[in-house]
Amino acid sequence: MSERLTGRERQEEDAGEASLRPQLLSDFTGQKLLRENLSVFIQAASARGEALDHVLLHGPPGLGKTTLAQIVAREMGVGFRATSGPVLQRAGDLAAILTNLQPRDVLFVDEIHRLQPAIEETLYPAMEDFQLDLIIGEGPAARTVRIDLPPFTLVGATTRSGLLSTPLRDRFGIPLRLNLYTPEELFRIVRRGAEKLGFALSEDGAREIANRSRGTPRIAGRLLRRVRDFAVVEGRVADRTMANLALERLEVDARGLDAMDRRYLRRIAEHHNGGPVGVETLAAALSESRDTLEDVVEPFLIQEGLVLRTPRGRMLGEPGWRHLGLTPPAGSVV
Ligand code: ATP
Repeated sequence: MSERLTGRERQEEDAGEASLRPQLLSDFTGQKLLRENLSVFIQAASARGEALDHVLLHGPPGLGKTTLAQIVAREMGVGFRATSGPVLQRAGDLAAILTNLQPRDVLFVDEIHRLQPAIEETLYPAMEDFQLDLIIGEGPAARTVRIDLPPFTLVGATTRSGLLSTPLRDRFGIPLRLNLYTPEELFRIVRRGAEKLGFALSEDGAREIANRSRGTPRIAGRLLRRVRDFAVVEGRVADRTMANLALERLEVDARGLDAMDRRYLRRIAEHHNGGPVGVETLAAALSESRDTLEDVVEPFLIQEGLVLRTPRGRMLGEPGWRHLGLTPPAGSVV
């Protein structure tokens, strides 16, 4: 994955991000319908003294899936355990986690679409009947042992619900989709973040950051901290001019696109005459994985109409051409 300021790889995350995380559903900004529904399901499960039904969170990275999983545990007043699909290599890894859960605990599995098939199958009876079938021994001496588990809530997160097998997807009673945030919601998130960081940011400065965060709270948090760095070092008041200056230095343009986004758009314009071009071709040319393009780069560009996803491949939309300061060739725009 390329070095992007907005690169959303977990390990690149600033440690400071944890301090900006909302702790309760009432602190969580945006995703109104999701929040209201989740609140009802949590209250109902709590009133019955039961574990919340399994929850599947899907949507682009950095929209708050991990945050929501933690909030679910906190609101239910139960423990929280986290792991991820690629980390679980053997059924025994999963068994060790499941058998250590307390009743009603939340188990968060990030990137659940990347679970090994054998582990997925172990998960089915665990999710449905709170039972674990373990195979002990090998060859003719092998036998299956059934272990009862405490009732628990699995919260799965994925950027690709389409990659989940149907039997797994069907076992989630509460599937929830997260959408990109509006500039107004991001503005509230940035203001609240600045307050938490004790950083005096003007209202128009906060708006500028919000407008350039590609609909993503994690990016808003990062830009906020970088603007603070520039303000501190330059000894200036953090107003709109200051925010603009910092964001320009970070190569984030007026629409929030970064260098990678512009390379992607330019590639379609200059090498493919606006498309259509297959995503694999783009990935190879840009030295990015197809997953990164589809999960990280494209959702915002598509939402904004800069790029169109057609059955024949990606095409530059009219706003995409305009953004690059180019005129679309006659007849190239659908
Ligand atoms: P990934 O898909 O990479 O796991 P994610 O969707 O789980 O990402 P989080 O790690 O939960 O995203 O959130 C990223 C950052 O954005 C966190 O620092 C969190 O504080 C902030 N954030 C996310 N959603 C909100 C929100 N609704 N309000 C305020 N801050 C938020």
